[in-house]
Amino acid sequence: MRPMEKVDIIGGGIAGLALAGILDPGRFDVTIHEQRPELPTVGTTLAMWPAAQQALSELGILGAVRSRGAMIKAGALRRPSGEPLLSMEGKGLLGVSRPELLRLLDMAVPRSVRREMGRVDHLPGAAGLTVGADGVNSIVRRNIRGRQSSAKPTPFLAVRGVIPGTPLPQDIGEYWGRGQIFGLAPAGGGSNWYASFRSDLGSERIEVAEALEVTRSRYANHSRAVQDVLATATPENSLAQRIWISPPLARYAQGNAVLVGDAAHAMTPNLGRGACEALIDAVTLGKLLNELPKEKALAAYGRKRVMRTQLLRIASSLMGSVALAQGAQPLRDVLLKQVGKRVSGARERAETSK
Ligand SMILES: Cc1cc2nc3c(=O)[nH]c(=O)nc-3n(C[C@H](O)[C@H](O)[C@H](O)COP(=O)(O)OP(=O)(O)OC[C@H]3O[C@@H](n4cnc5c(N)ncnc54)[C@H](O)[C@@H]3O)c2cc1C
Repeated sequence: MRPMEKVDIIGGGIAGLALAGILDPGRFDVTIHEQRPELPTVGTTLAMWPAAQQALSELGILGAVRSRGAMIKAGALRRPSGEPLLSMEGKGLLGVSRPELLRLLDMAVPRSVRREMGRVDHLPGAAGLTVGADGVNSIVRRNIRGRQSSAKPTPFLAVRGVIPGTPLPQDIGEYWGRGQIFGLAPAGGGSNWYASFRSDLGSERIEVAEALEVTRSRYANHSRAVQDVLATATPENSLAQRIWISPPLARYAQGNAVLVGDAAHAMTPNLGRGACEALIDAVTLGKLLNELPKEKALAAYGRKRVMRTQLLRIASSLMGSVALAQGAQPLRDVLLKQVGKRVSGARERAETSK
């Protein structure tokens, strides 16, 4: 019999829990180190793309996630007034609340996995594998790739929440203004909303009540629907945070340590891919470790994941620049309107030829 291999997972968020859930408990002696005393109860909806749903299926929880989430069917890119610029179809996107997803991932972790509560400031000893699943401000990343690899704050704030009552179909979508975005979608009987805009509010800690006030005044020229959502939102059902991104990385593994999720490739939220890629990283790495010797598994993980996730990180930033355009906003909207006309023309032609 082979001796159990030690794995220390720093961070029990989406990536850390998913990895603990897929590693073979007969082969690995796993410990999750998490600073948060309990799972969060407030959180907004995460969009899960089909590849992330495949990862959930490999963890055995896709059915449970589907039963608690909702398929995102359609939406539109809109002007702040609500006028649609471009209509979009959901294409198999599943919306699930982050607290619900974390709860289901947590339940999928085998009982044999040890839980250490508290912040990790120094990496565990050299024996075994240390996994940095500790998010955007990863200390594992800083330890193995140096201080210059630390994430950087963007000028953008994300304020978001869930309020009671489902939105009307004509209000669903993403509103692109001049240097600001607002999103609205149904979520488990309520409405999930998010706003993102340039702000130097709270360089250290952001007070949710203050962020909400700033958001209300920034979106005062938006449609009635947007203003109603913001009037209903409260600090208790909202979150506010600065958006951080990490600089490029060419390798995710070094010696006995490896990075997954935001620790490896924190990206702007504009493509809705960060949590999806965190899940796929974890499941890919876990399966490789289950099948191959550690060095080979880490090398194969790099080949499968580095290029793809770094490209998504860049694409997400580009999307953010378009969505949050300031000077180029009028030109952007004219182009979007043209694309929107072509897309709906093509759809109508496809419908009539059926
Ligand atoms: C506004 C916004 C909207 C988003 N929307 C989407 C979306 O629709 N779809 C999508 O796929 N992604 C989305 N994302 C991205 C997604 O939230 C992240 O990519 C995802 O949470 C990354 O998961 P993770 O497990 O890598 O990191 P995290 O979720 O950050 O988890 C890291 C964990 O490590 C713990 N930790 C950190 N440091 C330490 C330490 N030193 N010691 C112990 N524990 C530690 C933390 O407490 C935390 O539990 C969005 C992000 C934002 C900001």
